[in-house]
Amino acid sequence: MGKGTNEHADRPAAAGGTPVRTPERALHYSRQDINEKDIAAVTEVLRSDFLTTGPKIRELEDRLCQVSGAKYAVACANGTAALHIACMAAGLESGDEGITTPITFAASANCLRFVGARPVFADIDDRTWNIDVDAIEQNLRSSTRAVIPVDFTGTTADLTAIRQLADRHGLMMIEDGAHSIGTTVDGRPVGSIADMTTFSFHAVKTITGGEGGAVVTNDEALYRKLLLYRTHGITRDPSLMKGEPDGPWYYEMLELSTNYRLTDIQAALILSQLDRLEEFKSRKLAIVHRYNEAFAGIPQLTLQKVRDGVSETRHLYILRLDPEKLTIGRREFFDAMTAENIHCNVHYIPVYCMPYYQALGYERGLCPRAEKLYDEMITIPLYAGMTDGDVEDVIRAVTRICRYYAA
Ligand SMILES: *Cc1c(COP(=O)(O)O)cnc(C)c1O
Repeated sequence: MGKGTNEHADRPAAAGGTPVRTPERALHYSRQDINEKDIAAVTEVLRSDFLTTGPKIRELEDRLCQVSGAKYAVACANGTAALHIACMAAGLESGDEGITTPITFAASANCLRFVGARPVFADIDDRTWNIDVDAIEQNLRSSTRAVIPVDFTGTTADLTAIRQLADRHGLMMIEDGAHSIGTTVDGRPVGSIADMTTFSFHAVKTITGGEGGAVVTNDEALYRKLLLYRTHGITRDPSLMKGEPDGPWYYEMLELSTNYRLTDIQAALILSQLDRLEEFKSRKLAIVHRYNEAFAGIPQLTLQKVRDGVSETRHLYILRLDPEKLTIGRREFFDAMTAENIHCNVHYIPVYCMPYYQALGYERGLCPRAEKLYDEMITIPLYAGMTDGDVEDVIRAVTRICRYYAA
């Protein structure tokens, strides 16, 4: 149905219709869910003896081991710090290369730069929008030391194949699980597959501490290094020291690192939130299923394919617009959603298109599938606190825009 050819068409707000939501009831693409129990957990720490590096950190680390199926966990300041200490613990350095996806937040690649290594971007799989295993294979070189798959939107790449590839070529597999805490692959939780898996507890993520992060691993040697790099490369463990302690105050700084500690205040909030991980996961999945059902029949849209065996904690819901079947582009679609008072986002601009990476010589056109996806994608609201009515409003807005601007 062409623009304005049907008087009875459900007109988008952008074309003069009544917005699906009022500005006061505008929806955002993400929103934290903090309850009274979370608040009580934080205030309890504020009244306690330790504000940082106290009992809540150990408790959180134990809990993260349970959630991820890994033996060891190191809580740290944020997801970016987690990726940085993982690259340090992996022993990556100048001259080394690590392969990651361009469709991610910059930190997944930046962590390699922090240790002087070079990020290599492998293109995505067009169905799952996660890194493509063949593309990783094609980018392997003698200097490749690591592969960093990102669990995009909470779903995963073919982690079994990446695990095998990493083993075959002696690569460190560092999984960026910033989106995927609680996701399982063939019943195995994210955190039990890679050599190291990182999590983020930023305010937009499923589980939040405001800020916060962690690395989990099954390898004790990596665990010891992660502990060291979390706090200035300093140890109080006599078995690691070069010299003789000359008193109980003695500690040694063995390597250069920085302060990446998490506070007990944040750890308490993250712990309290983790009590609701299953609730968040199932609510978000119910919304995902409703969206899938509503959008499956709309020819203008392509949806992300989730690999068989993956039970995901979904972080983002993304629509891919078919430019051939719409008279408007992604920018106009985004603005049309804003006119409905539904605020969307775009995840992500391919990392190597950032001016910093362009200045390093990375060229546009490097990963054509990723760039095409970027041009056509839009992130719509998804968070556990959405009511069924909120979800139906988003569906109504998307549907009326697709119909009205159908080519
Ligand atoms: C959020 C995020 C990070 C960084 O986490 P912070 O806690 O914000 O530092 C890294 N990778 C991905 C994919 C993310 O979404």
